[in-house]
Amino acid sequence: MNKPVTAVSNLGAIDAAHHLHPFSDMKKLNAAGTKIITRAEGVHIWDATGKQYLDAFAGLWCVNVGYGRKSIADVVHAQMLELPYYNTFFGTTTPPTTLLAQKIAEKTGPKLNRVFFSNSGSEASDTWFRMARVYWKALGHETKTQVIARKNAYHGSTVAGASLGGMKWMHEQGNLPIEGIHHINQPYWYAEGGDLSPEDFGIKVARELEEKILELGEENVAAFVAEPIQGAGGVIVPPSTYWPEIKRICAKYQILLVADEVISGFGRLGSWFGHQHYDFEPDLAPIAKGLSSGYLPIGGVLVSDRVAEVMVNELGDFYHGYTYSGHPVAAAAALENIRIIEEEGLVERVRDDTGPYLAQALASLSDHELVGEAVSVGLMGAVQITADKATRRRFKKPDDTGTAVRNQCVDAGVVLRATGDRMLFSPPLIIERSQIDQAVDTLRNGLDWLKDNRGEG
Ligand SMILES: *Cc1c(COP(=O)(O)O)cnc(C)c1O
Repeated sequence: MNKPVTAVSNLGAIDAAHHLHPFSDMKKLNAAGTKIITRAEGVHIWDATGKQYLDAFAGLWCVNVGYGRKSIADVVHAQMLELPYYNTFFGTTTPPTTLLAQKIAEKTGPKLNRVFFSNSGSEASDTWFRMARVYWKALGHETKTQVIARKNAYHGSTVAGASLGGMKWMHEQGNLPIEGIHHINQPYWYAEGGDLSPEDFGIKVARELEEKILELGEENVAAFVAEPIQGAGGVIVPPSTYWPEIKRICAKYQILLVADEVISGFGRLGSWFGHQHYDFEPDLAPIAKGLSSGYLPIGGVLVSDRVAEVMVNELGDFYHGYTYSGHPVAAAAALENIRIIEEEGLVERVRDDTGPYLAQALASLSDHELVGEAVSVGLMGAVQITADKATRRRFKKPDDTGTAVRNQCVDAGVVLRATGDRMLFSPPLIIERSQIDQAVDTLRNGLDWLKDNRGEG
């Protein structure tokens, strides 16, 4: 058998010369040098120097079943030999593709029975965005084209994905957002809730959706999109009042409710999907990441009967698709990934054991003088750093503060992510209690370090 490509001595220099990285300041990165990851097993990764890390971020929110799953590699190998590629365009399909669509439908809410495949979450954003407009047009509502999204949301990096997202600095690069997308406030109580209780704030920001619909005119609005819990924006867990109010408003005005399940799908919240955790059923839902645990690129859009009915019976051709939509090898990997999640009861484990355990472990940080809030749902958590607990004051440079604490943790052998001054957890769903303790203890040490080195922050 051929061996995998391994590190060569000058890989860092080659990388600096030839490789442009996503979301990176290349000048700074080339000066600092890239970290070369060479190997992984379970919840651990190793770099080229041989240093081991606990990956408390599951790669990039995606390695739900953990690393080193031989059965996925075996299925992929066998599928490659049997049928490495075929398309799903001209009246054809492949067995893994179709069976994966069925399997996904089995796990979603009862009215989500169809899947349109993509290769990533970003592509899934582009797919549902067109689908939503096409749906209303097919019904004769030509003007229902406007989409409402949220500030600080993340829906990917394609033109539609970045436009739907609410990251200002992304919009500034490439003249975004594209026409027809509007952003309302996010349910980020800690930073933006002022004197309101979290519950009142949840209602207030949810009602911004209603105000925006009325401002644009109900006859012009196609859809509202939101992550059940904002991920890249900082694991913003909405107040308990938020989703019920959003659900009410979307139903009242009959606009499509789109749940971006790219992170919240496939067990992360202790449910198969985030919409089940928050007890609503979206009309469309992009998925990716945990669908294959990142072993191969694959994504898609869950399509409800409401939308599928129109697409199947009214639309005719939907002129949209990707060469690799429903790629048989990626689909085979996803099927095996889902089989593992089922067989090992990972959703239940997160719901009943490791999720509550993480919540408790994070809560133990609440007494730290620099911790404003520590929240989690399932195995998705965040610790908010504050300069002053009583007033919820932030450090002067929140991004630098979070990055500095993150670097402390990484040096100590635990990979976390920082978004601004929020420290984020999203470990593989196989993580054990002792490993949760290790991750949280390491973060506590990082916060202690910050306390001793906070300067005038
Ligand atoms: C990662 C992510 C995306 C984009 O997915 P890619 O596979 O990186 O294109 C979209 N939405 C959410 C919520 C995400 O976290």
